Amino acid sequence: MATKECPICGGQTLEEKQGEYRLEPPPNIPGGTMTVPDATWLACSTCNEEILSDALSKAIDRQRCKRLGLLTPEELREVRKRTGLSAVDMAQLLGVGEKTYTRWENGRSIQNKSNDTLIRLLDKHAAAFSLIEAEREPNRDTLIAGYLQDLSRLKGSNPLAMAAHGGDLGTVITENLRKRLQEIVARRKEIA
Ligand SMILES: [Zn+2]
Repeated sequence: MATKECPICGGQTLEEKQGEYRLEPPPNIPGGTMTVPDATWLACSTCNEEILSDALSKAIDRQRCKRLGLLTPEELREVRKRTGLSAVDMAQLLGVGEKTYTRWENGRSIQNKSNDTLIRLLDKHAAAFSLIEAEREPNRDTLIAGYLQDLSRLKGSNPLAMAAHGGDLGTVITENLRKRLQEIVARRKEIA
């Protein structure tokens, strides 16, 4: 098979490999050897350097996240899409730098467990985040009043009438809370 020049050692010994890729992960990752079927990569027989394709790197990262019980980059993007927040807003809510958050979504680094937990909570309980953010607000009384008013108004709606329109009360409330969360984020920006 034709070999190419290795960018690491300069030897003409870089060879394309295909098949099952095997990797011994570091000790902090449980589950033993990682395997990726139908992979493509380059390997140098002189210096033993390996150059992985993008797809292979991503597959390994996904396994790493799953084994650590953390959301994968794709899952992070899905959560953010559901909340309707921008990457900048997410970073602000979590209290991390914008670049840090973006690196998690791009798979260039992995969020730690506490941030992973916060992101999962934001996904499942946007209302709790709204309340916490509202508590930090200088004009929190108005915000909380508005929040409660919206909630009681929605609770007072006739569920049957809403079902007739194809709507579900739970979803409507959730949507409303997400909107409120976005409003609060926008207000925080105005104040900052
Ligand atoms: Zn080499």
